[in-house]
Amino acid sequence: MINLAKKLKNMSDNIEEKIKQLSAELNQHNYNYYVLDKPTISDFDFDLKLKELEKLETENQQFFDPNSPTQRVGGEIIKSFNTVVHKNRMYSLDNSYSKEDILDWEKRIKKMIGAEDVEYVCELKYDGASINLSYSNGILQSAVTRGDGYQGDDVTANIKTIRSIPLVLKENLMGDFEIRGEIILPLDGFNKMNEDRMDIGLEPFSNPRNTASGSLKLQDSAEVAKRPLDCLLYHVVANKNPNKTHFEALEMARKLGFKIPVTNKICANIEGVFSFIENWDTKRYKLPYETDGVVIKVNSLAQQDELGYTAKSPRWAIAYKYKAEQESSVLKEITYQVGRTGAITPVANLAPVQLAGTIVKRASLHNADQIEKLDIRVGDTVYVEKGGEIIPKIVGVDLSKRPKDSQPTKYITHCPDCNTELVRTAGDAKHFCPNEYGCPTQITGRIQHFISRKAMNIDGLGAETIQLLFKQGLVHNYADLYELRESQIIPLERMAEKSAQNIIAGIEKSKEVPFEKVLFALGIRFVGETVAKKLAKHFKSIDNLLKASFEELISVDEIGDIIAKSIIHFSANPINIALIDRLKIYGVQLEVSAESQVGKTTILSGKTFVVSGVFTHFERNDLKKSIEDNGGKVASGISKKTDFVVAGENMGPSKREKADALGVPIISETDYLKMIG
Ligand code: AMP
Ligand code: ZN
Repeated sequence: MINLAKKLKNMSDNIEEKIKQLSAELNQHNYNYYVLDKPTISDFDFDLKLKELEKLETENQQFFDPNSPTQRVGGEIIKSFNTVVHKNRMYSLDNSYSKEDILDWEKRIKKMIGAEDVEYVCELKYDGASINLSYSNGILQSAVTRGDGYQGDDVTANIKTIRSIPLVLKENLMGDFEIRGEIILPLDGFNKMNEDRMDIGLEPFSNPRNTASGSLKLQDSAEVAKRPLDCLLYHVVANKNPNKTHFEALEMARKLGFKIPVTNKICANIEGVFSFIENWDTKRYKLPYETDGVVIKVNSLAQQDELGYTAKSPRWAIAYKYKAEQESSVLKEITYQVGRTGAITPVANLAPVQLAGTIVKRASLHNADQIEKLDIRVGDTVYVEKGGEIIPKIVGVDLSKRPKDSQPTKYITHCPDCNTELVRTAGDAKHFCPNEYGCPTQITGRIQHFISRKAMNIDGLGAETIQLLFKQGLVHNYADLYELRESQIIPLERMAEKSAQNIIAGIEKSKEVPFEKVLFALGIRFVGETVAKKLAKHFKSIDNLLKASFEELISVDEIGDIIAKSIIHFSANPINIALIDRLKIYGVQLEVSAESQVGKTTILSGKTFVVSGVFTHFERNDLKKSIEDNGGKVASGISKKTDFVVAGENMGPSKREKADALGVPIISETDYLKMIG
């Protein structure tokens, strides 16, 4: 008995040890990737390790750790955020807009501390949402928004999904530790998110800052985990701060695992501050995120203490705001664009003006509400700004310059393209042209989407050619493409035998494009690339999908009401059914192919598996074949070289013991299926 108890304890110690070691390893890889931007492991190997840890944690709930790297994917749903009082108030910053303002500030502080020379630290002012992170004994306890400065919202579950924020500090730091920074959304990630949104007919987000702060308040942390948020730290809260200077404090934080921008700079005097400001005035546009100014801080913490705070902000710091990239111009005309989903976007046509290095002639007005809110009228002098977005936007109207005879803007009531009366459903910011199958822009837009790279990827065909083919009456929908003949294309403008051949060959080749891409290509509203993949995997064929009821649709992982309704709307339309029937006849892939179900990949290359027991999804031999088809190796006996044991029912006890002894992870059939995706 005693022996068995001891043995069990040893096993459990081993597991705990293994969990700790894997967590530490994964934390380090997260740090290398997200903080240092220097990964040292492939994504695949990272995922394998993460899965291994996940499994150990599920099987050994007693070792569950809320700060485990497995918790980064979110999942916690927060109904309402708790209000938390800040231990130390979160102040604002005083703003300055000129050299004179800064010199005044310097004069004031020099007088207060009676110093000849003051050393400063210059930092960029990151444009996002501020956050206060609290750690206790090196472990993240809470993340709270600034709120009103005295109290904010507890958004810890959401913050934990941001990979660059350490859940466990890299050095053992006992006691309490508080640090502040800015949650930002880098421009690349922001623009990518918007492209994906627009692609499926969603309104793009207006700017990275609002999107970052909005993300913190999402109720589903798994949703936050999908957004490429980042966190740049700028202030170690001074309690128990063992450092003499602000700069050292941040360097200490860097060692603890935080992302501290390398743009921070010590300036021996105010001249240095001015050259920092000048230097970044234009260089900041090359940064991967948005900045709207520079923050100048007194470096000595003793001097900071002496200076203290006003009612609103620290006296030891001041923000210098760059002039926004803003210009004024005259609004000549408002035109209206129709998207492929029928969404109407108003566009401001401006007198050309130079802005942030480019000439701007057009700006987005988003929707009717936006026009109404700004009361923007033709003839108005308007302010245009350019942030990280591709299209500049109008931020205000100079009312003093409004012409006397100006008239309020009347939003269009009918489609500029097909003259159908527009509709606007409750909850939609945009007006829509409901004439899905008769509105020329929607027709060509859908075909253009169909042929695009991420969809059917048809070589030789471009957006302009589609317009041409449509104008000539050669194609009215995507199914028509498959009936095109060379002899019809050759006589068209700028076409020749060679280009016509290319087009036909490209169309022919698209018949090999796998079902998930075809599904995306159909252009069902809200069905983006990822959703299409999920649906294809679940339903296996277009027939199954189009037969599915609302309940069946929403039972699929990540398919919500909106997507389900949109699919039902699509399948209820006989025009769509007829088009799909034609695609079937032409030989387009409308179900997952047998090969793609087993899927030959290299996902498992370099990994050795041992298979043991009886399985439900696979015959044993099929499982082995699947491992090999995915690039893995199958061995008969467990050894140090074994990476995984796939265990079915009735796995031999000796094998289990051996695997445990060698620390080889045992995974289930389901785990294996997840592994091969
Ligand atoms: P304001 O919101 O204009 O009062 O500016 C203060 C805010 O600037 C702070 O709450 C921070 O969120 C933000 N900020 C951005 N970068 C920095 C930085 N380097 N140092 C201090 N605050 C910063
Ligand atoms: Zn229309």
